[in-house]
Amino acid sequence: MRYGTSAGIFVVRLDKGEELVASLLDFCRRKRIRGATVSAIGAVSGAEIAVYDPAKKAYGTKAVRENCEIVSASGFVSVLDNAPHAHIHMALAGPDFRVIGGHLKKAVVNPTCEMAITPLGRLERKKDAKTGLALLGLRP
Ligand code: ZN
Repeated sequence: MRYGTSAGIFVVRLDKGEELVASLLDFCRRKRIRGATVSAIGAVSGAEIAVYDPAKKAYGTKAVRENCEIVSASGFVSVLDNAPHAHIHMALAGPDFRVIGGHLKKAVVNPTCEMAITPLGRLERKKDAKTGLALLGLRP
């Protein structure tokens, strides 16, 4: 991982073999980032993505086991149970140019990933019994 800062925005480069979510959370811990928007492009050698079924209150997951372009990834970093939490969605294009995507569980970078992390104030996330999700705790 390498990074630079421009106008208060962190620009991060991940290299081959680095796991995207773990690297993002590690960076946020080191920089004491408690809330941020995140966007990224690049490529991966594999990923695990998910889609939430509100009726079952559970995720269905899919393992991607080929090199794919990160067409787009975006989301938020927030705090859940006093620890940094990443909520990232990702669209991936494989060798057949078809795009699949969903909620990002993990992705292994190959060969590079370029990410912008824009710090915000502290964002809290709380578990919500109604949806079964950890939702942003914002004012009504
Ligand atoms: Zn999600």
